[in-house]
Amino acid sequence: TNTVIKRALLSVSDKSGLADLGKALAARGVELVSTGGTARTLREAGLEVRDVSDLTGFPEMMDGRVKTLHPTVHGGLLALRDNEDHVASMKEHDIGAIDLVVVNLYPFEATVAKGAERQEIIENIDIGGPSMVRSAAKNHGFVTIMTDAADYAELLDELDANDGATSDAFRIRMAGKAYARTAAYDAAIANWFAFGDAFTNPLGMEALKATPFTDTMPLAFKRSDTLRYGENPHQSAAIYVPQVTGTNGVPQAEQLQGKALSYNNLNDADAALELAAEFDGGDPAVVIVKHANPCGVAQAGTLLDAWNGALQCDSVSAFGGIVAVNTELDGATAEAIASIFTEVVIAPKVSAEAREIFAKKKNLRLLECGTMPDPRRGGFFMKTIAGGMLIQGRDNGAVTMDDLKVVTKREPTEQELKDCLFAWTVARHVKSNAIVYAKDGITAGIGAGQMNRRDSARIAASKAAEAAQTYEWGEPRTKGSAVASDAFFPFADGLISAAEAGASAVIQPGGSIRDEEVIAAADEAGLAMVFTGMRHFRH
Ligand code: 5GP
Repeated sequence: TNTVIKRALLSVSDKSGLADLGKALAARGVELVSTGGTARTLREAGLEVRDVSDLTGFPEMMDGRVKTLHPTVHGGLLALRDNEDHVASMKEHDIGAIDLVVVNLYPFEATVAKGAERQEIIENIDIGGPSMVRSAAKNHGFVTIMTDAADYAELLDELDANDGATSDAFRIRMAGKAYARTAAYDAAIANWFAFGDAFTNPLGMEALKATPFTDTMPLAFKRSDTLRYGENPHQSAAIYVPQVTGTNGVPQAEQLQGKALSYNNLNDADAALELAAEFDGGDPAVVIVKHANPCGVAQAGTLLDAWNGALQCDSVSAFGGIVAVNTELDGATAEAIASIFTEVVIAPKVSAEAREIFAKKKNLRLLECGTMPDPRRGGFFMKTIAGGMLIQGRDNGAVTMDDLKVVTKREPTEQELKDCLFAWTVARHVKSNAIVYAKDGITAGIGAGQMNRRDSARIAASKAAEAAQTYEWGEPRTKGSAVASDAFFPFADGLISAAEAGASAVIQPGGSIRDEEVIAAADEAGLAMVFTGMRHFRH
């Protein structure tokens, strides 16, 4: 049954498109009823509007906390028009039917995101709005609910196509959208109560530890894009962003050129950016990622030198790579990057010269992210498993020079310590088991994702040997390098193979029951070794 729309109740915080909609409705003979601010906007547009307080016989009160919460409103929304009892009740209590509701809610999410005080946030929890949305959506058999200004034009088309009514299909679709909106809205509120500003606060991890996880985990995410497909062409995919976030990441970056980002591009660009962000504010750094693992990372006096260092680590894998840098991308570096096939480049800023150079590579996706994400921020990591979802705090822990404990007879030199920390920083961004050799701020070899640590060490060393051959260095860069292991060496064999590859210093969490054995092996090989006391599994 299509109900001709005779009366509309409009109550919107975001007034965009409101005046035009009001005019279009009035032109179609629809009576307009409205709350304070909304009515004012409509009157300013020259429209005749009835105040909701006139309908309810109550003034809007308590700073707007109570405006539309009244049987006249909710009876007019919920009454079944084809039910005798309902119709009799409407008559008895002088309740007029409301056929169309246009509502958008107090901006709760935006108020949290701008860092408002607690009281302001609470005042921005809309009560009457969601109530009307839910009433109207429940009675979608007769009532049309509009919660998104982007749908106003379609509403008018509907009215024109159905002699002033809306179709069942349209009302059902809008009702579904309305409940999705109120669900997301309440989820954002529940998340704020549960986690406060853990999304945006660098100390969110602490908040998370102090606050037990809630019994239910409402997720307030909204879709920012639909992707062509997922990790594989037969998988569908979309990208969602949290409704409350202050973090600048790949989804927030501006795409300056190139094809649309794929699921894998987004995943890889994130891995690259998160690692590059570790060097935010430091010397120029370049990260090259393949399949979410870095295949070359370097930090140097100039970005071009860093690029060359990163590329030389594993030039075979760098083909078709995803590149992130920690500073403005200059022309010379852009020229070097553009000289090999690169899928994605992301930088906090891209110089005019660099833009010009990349413009010749039409397909290359170039992203400018403004500020880097804070590697130490709080937040969550989620992963679905069959029958459930795992949620943990982000791995935002970090060690500094002061946290390192020397466990060998030999103390590391200052340079070795620097290389240790650099290798450690990279290793935490490599899938486990992770082994990273580094020397002079350049990764010499990276071993990722193996099922045992010794294999990762061997693969890393073989990459270094291959690079030495390619560039005719005489000896691989693992010679005199620092080696980082994301978790402890369970046996001495992994460490011995690192020593054989020429490493002179080792950084690892420690904590194995065989630490003694591993330390003895390091002493025997003349290595210096430091323990971090912190593990960085990344599976
Ligand atoms: P206006 O700008 O018209 O004064 O207010 C519009 C906003 O008020 C809308 O966002 C709507 O969701 C909200 N709203 C409508 N009725 C009520 C109510 O009874 N209580 C509260 N807290 N908000 C309401």
